[in-house]
Amino acid sequence: MSLALNGGSPVRTAPWPSWPPPLDDAQRELVLSVLESGRWGATQGGTACADLTAAFARRSGVEYGVAVGNATLGLFAALLGLGVEPGDEVIVPAYTFVASATAVLLAGATPVIADVDPVDLHLSPPAVEAALTSRTAAIMPVHLAGSPADMDALNAVAARHSLAVVEDAAQAHGATYHGRPVGGLGDAGVYSFQASKAMTAGEGGLVVCRDRAVHEAVWSACNVGRTLDGAWYGHPRVGWNLRLTEIQAALLLPWLDRLDDEIDRRNTFATAVERELAAMPTPAVTVVPQPPGTTRDSRHLVMLRVHVPFDRSFVLAAMAAEGVPLDGGYPPLGTMSALTEAGARAEHCPAAGAASREVLWVRQQMLMDDPAGAAHIAEALTKVLAS
Ligand SMILES: *Cc1c(COP(=O)(O)O)cnc(C)c1O
Repeated sequence: MSLALNGGSPVRTAPWPSWPPPLDDAQRELVLSVLESGRWGATQGGTACADLTAAFARRSGVEYGVAVGNATLGLFAALLGLGVEPGDEVIVPAYTFVASATAVLLAGATPVIADVDPVDLHLSPPAVEAALTSRTAAIMPVHLAGSPADMDALNAVAARHSLAVVEDAAQAHGATYHGRPVGGLGDAGVYSFQASKAMTAGEGGLVVCRDRAVHEAVWSACNVGRTLDGAWYGHPRVGWNLRLTEIQAALLLPWLDRLDDEIDRRNTFATAVERELAAMPTPAVTVVPQPPGTTRDSRHLVMLRVHVPFDRSFVLAAMAAEGVPLDGGYPPLGTMSALTEAGARAEHCPAAGAASREVLWVRQQMLMDDPAGAAHIAEALTKVLAS
């Protein structure tokens, strides 16, 4: 069968679902009522940001939350709130979005890039242990692709060395670990509502935390250094305006009512992908498994590991031509010269290197398709890898 790239007929011609999903009536109503109220900012007495924050805190099993402009700023504010200072080191995984590290730089601290587990690709507890120094102040597990990091092991390392734990939950709204929601497993957790994420308002973020003093410090960092009960022009700390708008919160709040259904839909699709890959004539591709303890994978992405040598740019182009576009995924953070030139320290990270060569992603909007669509992924991979 000739490749679509060479003029053959593509495996799939039907479009995949678009992202974000269509607006629903509850979103339309709430956004319109916020627009008509004129209370578009979160300091004008509206309730959308406050309701969203309370709902996320409750869902995360913690007391407090702060809505922020995006997750990069949320991670920054969480690090400040936990007392991370210039000179401190914060350990981040080598296979993640660059913002996990740049948020550390924003806080004036040094990102230390540690390797991921070679199988599940999440921050590796032994690699964290090996990267510790007397200046390590915090670790930042990332709930990659929607599956929780191995938090029991990572929290144990943190507890042994008195480190703060900031969960980067930018990709994992609704995921659970041993039945407990992510975001509430460390000292602070941060969600993203950027356009590609499982809940989006175009941009946005939210920090959740358990401790009252941490909440006050995070809130203050996001509200120009004010205190919760202080004067409008009282600024006892240094802080910034990092707030989310009411309009954004109004898009997000009704989404919480359908988040679980959407996660179920993506999991059904992911199971179908696993089945179809196992049935390939020469099985050469597997779904990257979750770390131990995962009880709910929110399936932001399905990561595929290709077990035969292949030319990445050719495979990505050929898959796109077949109507099954995949994503090439992250380069290892330690290979980004902008980070190392800014002072980040990279440990030896062979597992992240292998992931960047061998792993391809199926994006969330494709996972929202009818499970029958999973067959197109295996069929196109079979065709392209055989060529
Ligand atoms: C998207 C993302 C971020 C940054 O979120 P923004 O809201 O775009 O700032 C941070 N970490 C990870 C793992 C992400 O996927």
